Amino acid sequence: MSKHAAAGLVHTRPGAIWREITKNLGRKPATRMYPKERPVLPPNFRGRPVFNPKGGCVGCMLCVRDCPSDAVKISKIGEKQFSATFNLDNCIYCGQCADSCAKKVISMSKEFELAAFDRSTLTNTTDSDPPPPKVAETKLSSEEVACETPEIPETKA
Ligand code: SF4
Ligand code: SF4
Repeated sequence: MSKHAAAGLVHTRPGAIWREITKNLGRKPATRMYPKERPVLPPNFRGRPVFNPKGGCVGCMLCVRDCPSDAVKISKIGEKQFSATFNLDNCIYCGQCADSCAKKVISMSKEFELAAFDRSTLTNTTDSDPPPPKVAETKLSSEEVACETPEIPETKA
């Protein structure tokens, strides 16, 4: 056995690939014809965070405090009135702001097509929030669910 084969870098069984080929012949391609074919989003998908200006924000700043990326700013715009600004180029779409908001004023939309040529357009204030696009939610196959929720092995202390 060569030293590469011993190190596991070379297939020691030349016929093994045929088993893989025949196993996958009947399967659909894993890739999709995006954007023609819309992606399948899992139910808990986290896209662009959205602030509801009529949601009753109390200005507690918990969302600002808990954001790990310093990506959300709350501004007072009137008596008991607040607006939010999200820096989407900093945001990591973790959903912590939505979790921290006891008033449920912030939610995570399904909007994910956020690529832009100009970074300044990635600062989203409450007033300029466009309506979230309609993204088809398709039921995931058991195979896709398994891909979405990987099992994290326990680490030993
Ligand atoms: S989703 Fe996460 S990173 Fe983005 S604004 Fe909310 S807390 Fe900050
Ligand atoms: S956590 Fe909610 S209520 Fe508090 S400032 Fe943020 S959006 Fe407003």
